[in-house]
Amino acid sequence: MPAPFPIFDGHNDLLLRLLRKDPAEAARVFLEGDGGGHLDLPRMRRAGFAGGFFAIFVPDPEDDPHADDMMVNASYDLPLPPSLDQPYALDATLHMAAILIRVERESRGAVRLCRTGADIDRARQEGAVAAVLHIEGAEAIDRDLLALDVLHAAGLRSLGPVWSRHNAFGHGVPFRYPSTGDIGGGLTDLGRRLVRRCNELRIMVDVSHLPERGFWDVARLSDAPLVATHSNAHAVCPHSRNLTDRQLDAIAESRGMVGVNFATSFIRPDGRKDARTPLEDMLRHFDHLIGRLGVDGVGLGSDFDGATVPQAIGDVTGLPRLFDAMRRHGYDEATLRKLAYENWVGVLKRTWG
Ligand code: ZN
Repeated sequence: MPAPFPIFDGHNDLLLRLLRKDPAEAARVFLEGDGGGHLDLPRMRRAGFAGGFFAIFVPDPEDDPHADDMMVNASYDLPLPPSLDQPYALDATLHMAAILIRVERESRGAVRLCRTGADIDRARQEGAVAAVLHIEGAEAIDRDLLALDVLHAAGLRSLGPVWSRHNAFGHGVPFRYPSTGDIGGGLTDLGRRLVRRCNELRIMVDVSHLPERGFWDVARLSDAPLVATHSNAHAVCPHSRNLTDRQLDAIAESRGMVGVNFATSFIRPDGRKDARTPLEDMLRHFDHLIGRLGVDGVGLGSDFDGATVPQAIGDVTGLPRLFDAMRRHGYDEATLRKLAYENWVGVLKRTWG
């Protein structure tokens, strides 16, 4: 059973899952569904998934897929992966952007790459999935920011300057538990130029994966709402990827928002990666975030296809179970609609103008 209202999600890594395929095959797998990973179009429809941010994340060519297995331990401090070459990152970025463009073209109107608030509203009216193209870590962007203009023209509307590694724009926050996010430096001069240029182009700036210094650099510089697409409350789970109350207050002041990340290491108070994480642990984050940000400042940031999520959710078709749990927890219907959809669409409209 789908949720009784539309769902908009702040982060998925579907394009990363499909990166090894050529764009035509990748589009077919997504549109017809292969049951792999957390997301494909048939399962999204079953869940009532109406839209979300589709991230371009460039993996390390030598990536150790088991590095995050350390997160099952009682404490951990993952080494930062090496920085990437810009031409390599641009190549992978174009591949993933091409997959999403191909998906849109071959979906016969079932998937819409959205560039404006009106695009999202139209997708909703027509029952299409609204896709927002997002970049997680700006390694593909050259020092003259020319690639930013081209990607913007291709539909890019959201960008996180860094993932959890260093690049020309700033430091990424390491995965460390227990720890605050006050580890690492802030934005470089080029990173500051990138944020200002994103403001000019009305590309949303995402603060997830920034250490505290980079967060405060964006907070000082940006004229747009502060948004963390997939981060949780440090007061509930003291992980370096999560946001302190001071950061949450700054986000609230900017009329920004936070998408709750389903990655169990950022949910559980013990910071462990463990699929046997109860939905009650997620509700503590929603409660805390709503307490600091209000019901207009919180949404979903699933990290589907990029993280170990609670088995109580399993994949995108488990989203209605999360909303059932929220309803039993006492959230009223109007709150559920905001958390599920309205808040994301609202902050995008405020950002894109
Ligand atoms: Zn991420």
